[in-house]
Amino acid sequence: MAVSTGRPRRVVIVGGSISGLFHGVYLKRHGSDVVILEQDPKTIRSSHNAGIAIGPAALEFLAKYDDTGVQSCIPGVRTRLAYRQNLYWKDTNITKHLTSWGLLYRILRANFDGLTSEAVPQPPKPRESDGKAEYRAGKRATGLWYHDGVVTVQFVGEDGKEDRITADLVLGADGLHSTVKTLLAQATAKEYSGYVSWRGTINESELSPKTAEYFANRTVLGFYERNYFVCYPIPPDSGSFAPGTRLINWVWYWNMDESYELDQVLTDIHGYKHSNTVPSGLINPEIWKKHLANTVPSLSPTFAELLLKTENPFVTKVNDAICERATYHDGHVILVGDALSTFRPHFALATEQAAKHCLALGKVWDGETTLEQWEKEAIIWATKIRLGSRTMGAGHVRGWGEFFGAAWESLVFMVRAQLGWA
Ligand SMILES: Cc1cc2nc3c(=O)[nH]c(=O)nc-3n(C[C@H](O)[C@H](O)[C@H](O)COP(=O)(O)OP(=O)(O)OC[C@H]3O[C@@H](n4cnc5c(N)ncnc54)[C@H](O)[C@@H]3O)c2cc1C
Repeated sequence: MAVSTGRPRRVVIVGGSISGLFHGVYLKRHGSDVVILEQDPKTIRSSHNAGIAIGPAALEFLAKYDDTGVQSCIPGVRTRLAYRQNLYWKDTNITKHLTSWGLLYRILRANFDGLTSEAVPQPPKPRESDGKAEYRAGKRATGLWYHDGVVTVQFVGEDGKEDRITADLVLGADGLHSTVKTLLAQATAKEYSGYVSWRGTINESELSPKTAEYFANRTVLGFYERNYFVCYPIPPDSGSFAPGTRLINWVWYWNMDESYELDQVLTDIHGYKHSNTVPSGLINPEIWKKHLANTVPSLSPTFAELLLKTENPFVTKVNDAICERATYHDGHVILVGDALSTFRPHFALATEQAAKHCLALGKVWDGETTLEQWEKEAIIWATKIRLGSRTMGAGHVRGWGEFFGAAWESLVFMVRAQLGWA
């Protein structure tokens, strides 16, 4: 059962991506001493320049805790819908604030442990109330034990050496394939959606002026037969926002059951079959060429230009997953961000979820609410978004049968949540 723990003094966070850094910055700003363990050995990490959306909680977080003064996103980008050859099907008032994983990572690192980067050449000085902050790159968590209010985390470095660290609180911010979750023996409902996302970015200056203008200042959703695109402008990792220097990020949801064909897509240029993502630069060019040859003739020339000019796209199986519990060991171990719940990305809410978890946990540490209440609300919100995202994906990629099933499940859950039965 979750227990309210008060503000923790020593914290270890497993996972140094967006969720780990939101929580790390928050806790450090409130005086905790924080160590982040991140398995990736690179300090300046690459995001393949791919894009993320920033919602109200992430904006609130940055307004309160970001001292860099650096522009974090392209604000208020409107959404246009395109249907097959009709590029101007509908302009909507739906807006999103858009950025890249790499830029947000650099801003959060500058605040957390003063990392200098092209995006943040002069990191801010610590605030007087700050605790200590340490980002240990190339450290993979491998073990976790709890005894009498103290959590011990075992980790292994790049040199293969094992070490241990203790804390009052450990946050598992280690994503969809969370090691912390596995070490807690937490069962997870994880499922392949039946489709993949092909993704890529291209500098707007490399597109023809007409195509660049079409994509440069809006999010475009382009719908085709059981596949659809989401395209939007983002800053590169360096944080440049000047027109002509930004990137157009595209995501193309493509229907593909578990099959020999999917195995081929996931097999890289070295013959290695990836379980989830084939990173940029490793996709077998023959597979990509064949895919384009089969599909480009049915696309509008404007979308086709994006694909044909993109170098090094990458591909990911779209999964979702959710845990039944977020808190363990009397509240001394907590799962946050994608480790607790990963959505299909249709509503672009993963970063928002991470910020929401962090701000709401702050209220627990301030004594305004309990950890039980935090956990309940986090799981209800995640379930709503997870089921809504499934409905969206099923409707546009998988077909009517799955759409009605997903919509029904979503509706039933919303009613149960409304009645307090969820
Ligand atoms: C390099 C990178 C680029 C991304 N780019 C995009 C993007 O462009 N668009 C988008 O929508 N989402 C992107 N994501 C995913 C996005 O960050 C998340 O969906 C969201 O922000 C919430 O993430 P998270 O921090 O909970 O989990 P994740 O972002 O998945 O981060 C988990 C982190 O934990 C680390 N980790 C895992 N296991 C261990 C272990 N045993 N020990 C130590 N560390 C461990 C991983 O290396 C990773 O850094 C990216 C993630 C990464 C890591």
